[in-house]
Amino acid sequence: HGRMLLQVRVAQVNPQFLLVLAEDLTKERRLEAVRRDFTVNVSHELKTPVGALSLLAEAVEDAADDPVAVRRFAARMGSEATRLSVLVHEIIELSRLQVSGALDEMGVVELDDVVAEAVDRARTTAGAKNVELVAGGDRGEQVVGDRALLVTAVRNLVDNAVAYSAPSTRVGIGVHRAGDLVEIAVVDQGIGIAVADQERVFERFYRVDPARSRDTGGTGLGLSIVKHVAADHGGEVTVWSQPGKGSTFTLRLPRNERTSTP
Ligand code: ADP
Repeated sequence: HGRMLLQVRVAQVNPQFLLVLAEDLTKERRLEAVRRDFTVNVSHELKTPVGALSLLAEAVEDAADDPVAVRRFAARMGSEATRLSVLVHEIIELSRLQVSGALDEMGVVELDDVVAEAVDRARTTAGAKNVELVAGGDRGEQVVGDRALLVTAVRNLVDNAVAYSAPSTRVGIGVHRAGDLVEIAVVDQGIGIAVADQERVFERFYRVDPARSRDTGGTGLGLSIVKHVAADHGGEVTVWSQPGKGSTFTLRLPRNERTSTP
């Protein structure tokens, strides 16, 4: 389709000018396709919890005389509603990040604080699995960026590390200075990711094991949010993993040179 358009236009005007125009159109088409895919995926993902909720509502009606059953169905409705709310929240966050490099609150951000907050928020889920969270590395590192988004990014990596870890293992969060960059590495001893999946995990809604992701309350959007946050800060996120041994996700950001050292 895109190619047909290119040929027709080339025949009409100055060839050099047209080549540029055609390229632009192809890029536009690609973006359009990406947007269309996203919409299709979003509707598909929303249908699951919404469908479950209406089935459960029917079940509650049918079981009106059985208080135990009603309570059980109500509890399941509650967890489906939570899933739905996390999904909607992440879809909105990702759409916001995709619109433009929409960094709301730019400022100097202390990575010690970012890591501490992400770790704090993961403590309960980690505790339930007896997964030990260990933070360390270089102290006092700074970046320029949006603090809330950086916390979200590190938190998504830590939450995943915990979710895909075996009970009674360890998750490490290390900050390391590397020249002009600073790296935040999240290391787990979990299930790992096969080479073929390593690139794809950053795609929206991609999950290696959809059933497992759903069990852990995953949406398949976490890593694409991390990828966008990294890119918006002029950085990147990469993965290194050995199936069965564990994974390391590394967020690399341009570091802010401290103006005065304490
Ligand atoms: P989810 O909400 O499913 O965790 P993500 O975008 O955060 O979605 O991650 C995408 C997929 O990548 C996950 O479903 C999982 O299969 C895989 N994954 C992410 N982090 C890890 C990890 N630390 N160890 C193993 N697999 C992981």
